[in-house]
Amino acid sequence: MKDLFGFIDDLYDKADVSDNALSDILTDSYVLKESDQRSLSFSDVDTYLFKSADKKRREVYDTDVYARGLIEISNRCKNNCLYCGIRRGSPVYRYSLSQDEIMDCVRSGHEMGFRTFVLQGGENPGSDRMITELIRRIKSEFPDSAVTLSLGEKTKKIYEEFKQAGADRYLLRHETADKMHYEKLHPDEMSYDNRINCLWTLKELGYQVGAGFMVGSPYQTTGNLISDLRFLKELSPDMVGIGPFIPQHDTPFSGEKAGSLLTTLRCLALIRLMLPHALIPATTALWTIHPKGRDAGLKAGANVIMPNLTPSYARELYNLYDNKKNVKDEAGIRLAGISAKISESGYRLSMDRGDVIRK
Ligand code: SF4
Repeated sequence: MKDLFGFIDDLYDKADVSDNALSDILTDSYVLKESDQRSLSFSDVDTYLFKSADKKRREVYDTDVYARGLIEISNRCKNNCLYCGIRRGSPVYRYSLSQDEIMDCVRSGHEMGFRTFVLQGGENPGSDRMITELIRRIKSEFPDSAVTLSLGEKTKKIYEEFKQAGADRYLLRHETADKMHYEKLHPDEMSYDNRINCLWTLKELGYQVGAGFMVGSPYQTTGNLISDLRFLKELSPDMVGIGPFIPQHDTPFSGEKAGSLLTTLRCLALIRLMLPHALIPATTALWTIHPKGRDAGLKAGANVIMPNLTPSYARELYNLYDNKKNVKDEAGIRLAGISAKISESGYRLSMDRGDVIRK
């Protein structure tokens, strides 16, 4: 009989186990039943896995959950990723926030206490100069705050310009670490090698780097997930974003099944044990597939949340996947609610910059 508890102990002690052990943990046959949807009950093995991940996270970050203010600056994108609701071919109305609108979001977020701002948008090379100026404006008005970018693949020169302007961090999910799988999720014009090279370039330039992947994307196998975990172990990013795949009605994958909550939580916990220093968000997607998803994510090792500071008219148009949570509420109201929920779960909401801690 396989000793899953022993594998989890090994992971806890050595931050690594064999591919076979990872596979056994990921495919353990227990599944959540429909009737468990409100209360979420896990098997003994999963409970042990999540508790071990939570203990590891407390060793590095205590009970802190860092808040990042997310600003969805534009839904214009030159790419056509098959899973994405703002892909070039999607009929969605396009918007781009002006520099002044973005600065207003940053100012009100700073007043609420945020000290990290995440500027996220589709890939839009025409906006690179504006972004460079914007980073300078944010860093000059709010030198105590970190600027994180999530704007896709750029040339080394552009990444350098953003860095010199003051950008601190860059999020670029690799989405899948298997080239053949990547090619099933992206059109021919996109390149797996370029995406991976971008991540290494960002590291070389001194950014705090975030990578990550979708769980349950079409054609994904357990072997693909293990490749993702191995790639992350090798890259050793500062941040890891993992969320379930959720189909969006305007995409070629509209009829596909969403990723499983349980497998996503297992991946989160495995990443916490393999990369104890990682800053890991409990993503909105996790919350979208289950009302207790975000709470369960925190208890499985996640330690970041990203409340949305985008003006509500734009938020509704940044429709990466269907039924996205909290599209309408105002940021201040959400933050108060989130803070209370986090305390109830035994953690502490931190508005600090929350840089990576590598021991
Ligand atoms: S996933 Fe990113 S790069 Fe791909 S279409 Fe969506 S916004 Fe563009």
